[in-house]
Amino acid sequence: MDLGIAGRRAAVAAASSGLGLATARALAEEGVRVAICGRDRARVQKAAASLGHDAVALVADVGTAEGARHFVERSRESLGGLDILVTNAGGPPAGNFASTPLESYPEAIDLNLMSVVAMCSEALPGLREQRWGRILAITSISVRQPLPGLILSNTARAGATGFLKTLAREVAGDGVTVNSIQPGIHRTPRVEQLFGGNLPAVTRDIPAGVMGEAEDFGRLAAFLCSEHARFVTGAAVPVDGGAYTGLQ
Ligand code: NAD
Repeated sequence: MDLGIAGRRAAVAAASSGLGLATARALAEEGVRVAICGRDRARVQKAAASLGHDAVALVADVGTAEGARHFVERSRESLGGLDILVTNAGGPPAGNFASTPLESYPEAIDLNLMSVVAMCSEALPGLREQRWGRILAITSISVRQPLPGLILSNTARAGATGFLKTLAREVAGDGVTVNSIQPGIHRTPRVEQLFGGNLPAVTRDIPAGVMGEAEDFGRLAAFLCSEHARFVTGAAVPVDGGAYTGLQ
């Protein structure tokens, strides 16, 4: 299916590997020009080269609002405009309430909430003015079902999701959609590093019986950025092989 976005321009944050890179790849394969970022120059350049299609590599740390805002600004400059923003970042450290000091919260909130607000703030005026835009945030299934031992992630991503839902309704009349995509367990460098040899145990609770593949995730993300998805906004889409048990 032609997604109708060839020639569009996308900024995809935290995309030197994993779900961000797979999303950038799916967009590039649709003829979208992409700018990606990571913190390590060599890694992000290698990732952009693997994408082809004149993908732009930018070194940026989206863990601060300023770094996040600056990434979007430089993407727009490099691409000659912006139509699509995919927000993404790494995850904060694991821990429960007892093991997580109060001082750890602001950093996690900067990484997984304020970065989203900052990227949207930088992108939105232009998207609204041109009356076409797609904002897609990569969050986590933990927004629906908080994961034990990930109190920082659970807290920050719930806030981001509330922000995105509110924003979606405010800008829907301007041709800009705002959605999030909530990954369950996917095979990425991060998950392989976290679970290593214990991957069979990780998949045990996934009704699909397998982990998600980043490539499949990327294609769904690209669809949510497509012309055909213009009536989908304010949605938070779980992608987890059926692991989440609730109704909503
Ligand atoms: P990953 O580690 O494979 O890739 C993340 C990429 O982002 C890396 O290239 C890393 O260098 C880059 N990055 C990290 N922090 C950054 C920062 N501050 N600024 C710029 N770049 C940064 O991770 P992933 O598995 O693709 O996960 C992406 C996001 O999705 C994370 O927030 C993760 O917590 C979340 N998530 C992933 C899964 C999964 O199963 N993979 C499940 C739920 C949630």
